Amino acid sequence: MKTTQQVDVLIIGAGPSGCSAAAMLAEQGHRVLVVEREKFPRYHIGESLIPFTYGPLERLGLIPRMKQSHFTKKFSVQFVAQNGKASQPFYFFNRYDRETVAQSWQILRSEFDLMLMQHAREKGATVEEEMTVTSLIKEEGRVVGVAGKRNDGTPFEYRAAITLDCTGKESFAAVREGWRLRDPYLNKVAVWTYYKGSKRDEGIDEGQTTVAMIPEKGWFWHIPQHDDMVSVGVVAEGKYLTRGGVKDLKAIFHREVEENLWIKDRLSTGQQVGEYYITSEYTHHSKHCYRDGLLLVGDAFCFLDPVFSSGLMLALKSGVMAADAVHDSLVAKDISPSRFEAYGRGLRDGIENMRKLVYAFYDPEFSFKKVIDKYPDMAGDITDCLSGDVNKDFTRLWQAIEEFAPLPKNLPVGAPLASTSAELQPA
Ligand SMILES: Cc1cc2nc3c(=O)[nH]c(=O)nc-3n(C[C@H](O)[C@H](O)[C@H](O)COP(=O)(O)OP(=O)(O)OC[C@H]3O[C@@H](n4cnc5c(N)ncnc54)[C@H](O)[C@@H]3O)c2cc1C
Repeated sequence: MKTTQQVDVLIIGAGPSGCSAAAMLAEQGHRVLVVEREKFPRYHIGESLIPFTYGPLERLGLIPRMKQSHFTKKFSVQFVAQNGKASQPFYFFNRYDRETVAQSWQILRSEFDLMLMQHAREKGATVEEEMTVTSLIKEEGRVVGVAGKRNDGTPFEYRAAITLDCTGKESFAAVREGWRLRDPYLNKVAVWTYYKGSKRDEGIDEGQTTVAMIPEKGWFWHIPQHDDMVSVGVVAEGKYLTRGGVKDLKAIFHREVEENLWIKDRLSTGQQVGEYYITSEYTHHSKHCYRDGLLLVGDAFCFLDPVFSSGLMLALKSGVMAADAVHDSLVAKDISPSRFEAYGRGLRDGIENMRKLVYAFYDPEFSFKKVIDKYPDMAGDITDCLSGDVNKDFTRLWQAIEEFAPLPKNLPVGAPLASTSAELQPA
């Protein structure tokens, strides 16, 4: 039997972007329904939080829970050259407040995402699992809800004043609207797995993220987690990773481990655990953030190459920003596109700043050290952007970096699609 229900806000996907938006909107008294395909806790990649994730976590009221959690504390990042030589750790507390932004976390997504889901429920949102959305319902050019199937095959239909697409990098709506654009250059492949009992630093350095270089600007992430586990993955061009016709994930991974002495040494005492994973066709952007009744949030709006671990900061921040914009529009009973212009522009500005740094990172001639040696006063701006303080004016930084590497122009995307029918129907 088909179930039809009417709510204020319908959210597709209960990942960090969906649950952060759900919690904030439910707290403000809106009837919120989140529809999620999986049963939580579920596996997900994306395990390192950058310092400026602090802001959205604080808005959500989750800092005390994070502080009490067993997630590994992260105080720094280091870079390791291909020959295995490690840079000095960069400690966040050299620039930011020790008690807040300067201490971040390495998380396990199954636990972190479940915490966010429970939080959304505690705030009053309804979260329905094991339900897959298969289509958007449109009436007179407006998105008025979604239809789909429960895992047992029962169809459902939900209607809402506004629908948020929080489906992650699958970007459900952008694909169906024909809005999804691949980034012209950022098309990497990642292969990753987990180790238990491998070598780790001690004390304050135990939880630091390491980015370790391999040939052709490929790199490993090394993310220490609790229970003596480490997440280790390699990211590079597909052509490089599969050279010589190697397709087996285990073979790809272990061939690259030999390419960085630091990684090889770290993993030498550990036990590989579980599967090898792969993902490809990396960075994508959505042409629009909004059309009447439909807002894109988190990776569903833009997925950026994960070299600087910006994904969760952007997912949580966009969830909170989306909630603010949706709340205002519901209160005003006006969901016209202009209400979501600032949302799209703010997100895109931050994404474009991070994207410029990602482009520079992959340029064969570029290094942050070269820039800082010539322009020591740029170190602070580089740190801010890498730490996720992305909505700042970095004009001087881009001028300095362009002496070392070409930077991309901002993509003309992300604005709401012009209205077809803006009047909010009563729920
Ligand atoms: C290799 C790799 C490494 C990464 N490393 C980092 C990192 O170190 N740090 C970091 O911050 N980020 C990292 N990221 C990025 C991070 O994983 C994402 O930015 C983050 O998960 C985005 O959150 P989200 O809520 O937008 O989407 P997701 O977390 O993907 O959540 C989307 C949810 O929607 C559900 N869903 C999808 N389609 C449907 C449907 N049709 N119906 C119902 N439900 C649906 C899914 O089941 C899922 O639960 C990495 C990503 C990759 C690929």
